[in-house]
Amino acid sequence: MSIVRLIYASKIKAGYGPNDIMKIVEVSEKNNQQKGITGALCFGPRHFLQCLEGQRDVVNRLYNTIVTDERHTDVELLYYSDIDERVFSDWAMGYVLAEQSLHEIVFRFSGNSQFNPYEFTSKQAIRFLQAVVEERQKSIKTKVEETESMA
Ligand code: FAD
Repeated sequence: MSIVRLIYASKIKAGYGPNDIMKIVEVSEKNNQQKGITGALCFGPRHFLQCLEGQRDVVNRLYNTIVTDERHTDVELLYYSDIDERVFSDWAMGYVLAEQSLHEIVFRFSGNSQFNPYEFTSKQAIRFLQAVVEERQKSIKTKVEETESMA
């Protein structure tokens, strides 16, 4: 069975906030692990950018569920393709906040440092997600090393 990569952008609906996002991440990590789906979810002040990788029928079914989720709106498919291998193979659902520390990465891929995934080409979307996930992994590694050196 072939595997696919799907990337979409969307906007959080008014009335939803950080607690709702944490719930989405919690449920997604558990569900995606069970379904063999990997990927990354980036959230800026108003926008989501998510990449899903996995078996085609499983990814398609999940996307159909996500599109109808009332917590976000204006879901726009940026990329869908068969792939030879996964990029986010270690992440059941890597979650990254497009916060201040990531503005530099946002700027690399945009006209300004405001996170607006609708403006990304499909290539930029995947490269952006890879870059923020790599940055997040580096900062986790640094924190672990700092904790170990203090022990
Ligand atoms: P459920 O049992 O239906 O829900 C789990 C919990 O989530 C519930 O207890 C409830 O508290 C909360 N919840 C569910 N729906 C709502 C709602 N509409 N409003 C408020 N709270 C609610 N799901 C994945 O499995 N994998 C993903 O990668 C993924 N990515 C997502 C990305 C975005 C931007 C959004 C908005 C949603 C995403 N979801 C994802 C969630 C998805 O749309 C479904 O809600 C979820 O898959 C249902 O899973 P479930 O049947 O196990 O959970």
